[in-house]
Amino acid sequence: MSNELDSFKEIISHCKEYGYVFPSSEIYDGLAAVYDYGPYGAELKKNIRDYWWQAMVLINDDVVGIDAAIFMNPKTWKASGHVDNFNDPMIDNKDSKKRYRADVLIEDYIEKYRQKIDKEVAKGIKRFGENFDEAQFRATNPNVLRTQQKIDEVESRFKEAINSGNLADVKQLIVDLEIACPESGSKNWTDVRQFNLMFSTQMGSVADDSGVIYLRPETAQGIFVNFLNVQKSARRKVPFGIAQTGKAFRNEIVARQFLFRMKEFEQMEMQFFVRPGTEMEWYEHWKQKRMNWHLSLGLNKDKYRFHNHVNLAHYANAAVDIEYNFPIGFKEVEGIHSRTDFDLKRHEQESGRKLRYFDPEINESYVPYVVETSIGLDRMFLLILSNAYTVEQLEQDGKTSERTVLKIPPVLAPVKLAILSLVKKDGLDEKAMQIFNDLRFDFACQYDEKDAIGRRYRRQDAIGTPYCITIDYDTITDNSVTVRYRDSMEQKRVKIDELRAEMQAELNVSKLLRNL
Ligand code: ATP
Repeated sequence: MSNELDSFKEIISHCKEYGYVFPSSEIYDGLAAVYDYGPYGAELKKNIRDYWWQAMVLINDDVVGIDAAIFMNPKTWKASGHVDNFNDPMIDNKDSKKRYRADVLIEDYIEKYRQKIDKEVAKGIKRFGENFDEAQFRATNPNVLRTQQKIDEVESRFKEAINSGNLADVKQLIVDLEIACPESGSKNWTDVRQFNLMFSTQMGSVADDSGVIYLRPETAQGIFVNFLNVQKSARRKVPFGIAQTGKAFRNEIVARQFLFRMKEFEQMEMQFFVRPGTEMEWYEHWKQKRMNWHLSLGLNKDKYRFHNHVNLAHYANAAVDIEYNFPIGFKEVEGIHSRTDFDLKRHEQESGRKLRYFDPEINESYVPYVVETSIGLDRMFLLILSNAYTVEQLEQDGKTSERTVLKIPPVLAPVKLAILSLVKKDGLDEKAMQIFNDLRFDFACQYDEKDAIGRRYRRQDAIGTPYCITIDYDTITDNSVTVRYRDSMEQKRVKIDELRAEMQAELNVSKLLRNL
């Protein structure tokens, strides 16, 4: 784990050095859990957002997009339950003075036991090879069963305590499990308290309670309140979905994990409105579809898993997380939730307006059920970087060297092509500039003529450019260039006339979308 944490630290410093992510307002020592995206970061983030939008809105006839405001009538948050219930149970360690989420401390404790089981399974695979039956092993191995029983006990105690709002029992569980502060190792805990995560501010010039307004803690409510506006104006029939991307704000208690948990972040959400009773089919449909989206990017399949929620929120009848094995362990990157008709019904009650759909197929009017997919853009960004960041040892001519390379999926890379002139003379630079000026209208290109070619390759590796195009002396005579592939470092000659088509084939987003 410590190696992995080191790699997390390396990723953070790499992000800063190469213009991906900076601490916000750094000249004033920054602001906890708030970050700014630099030139390459802004491009990568935009490319992830675009790929999501294309996959959700562009190629699905039954999904339309909107862009709702961050500020909403505060009654929205009363109706959604956020004013009364958007709390995290927090606990402080009296020695280190660090604040933790009680549920996260318990989840981390459980995760250690899960890893124990995974280790047993790995041992089994090693011992029995091809004949290994994992399902049977998990169901019968005494060590696995004992550990699973322990997990089940902890989960059930936690669920009971949190669902009944019994915070003293949550604390007792932490004490009984002898959970220590990860920072100080001390078990000297305060009581558990609830903490509301919404940021509030004032609208208007009078600072009294009547002007209190919230920064939205999720984008979803902008979709719920617009359900009928969109359904009518876009002339949609249920089932259909509404998607949007945008900022959300949460006053997170534990915010020590870089982009993983920020106070200001961006969500990409889609609410799919369905006929009551059909929600489980749609839930399975979107669960699969969203996992396919992740895998379509060529990311490591073994690092993904589904994790069913232990604690279903009171309004949900099914919920699953797509988790990824970040350097800080398996963590949620996306949630798929079957939210029943809770939100629309609550908005009907609070606003006094009907939010119903007349279904001509069954001649009935109803409040639709909702299946939502909700992914954090910044978390996805961190996932891409965690998956991409690689330090490689290279052997060449008896010498060892090291390169740091970001193996970002080519379609998402901030710079797609680097156009490099081998030397800055003899007309090579002019030829390179000509190619650059031609290709920049089709691809995000960068022209670089400074330093030796090897150093320029390293620079492009470090920002994740998938293809370097080098113009050398042969180019003048054979009208070809060298294309160097970032991941394999292989090189091949390509005719200038064929370069655009060749690169378009490599960077073909529509091919990925067609396979979804
Ligand atoms: P967590 O359990 O990690 O706090 P959550 O279950 O509260 O997350 P949701 O409310 O379901 O998260 O939000 C949907 C998605 O938004 C999450 O899967 C995550 O990718 C992203 N997200 C939520 N909170 C944050 C945050 N503070 N910083 C960055 N991304 C976040």
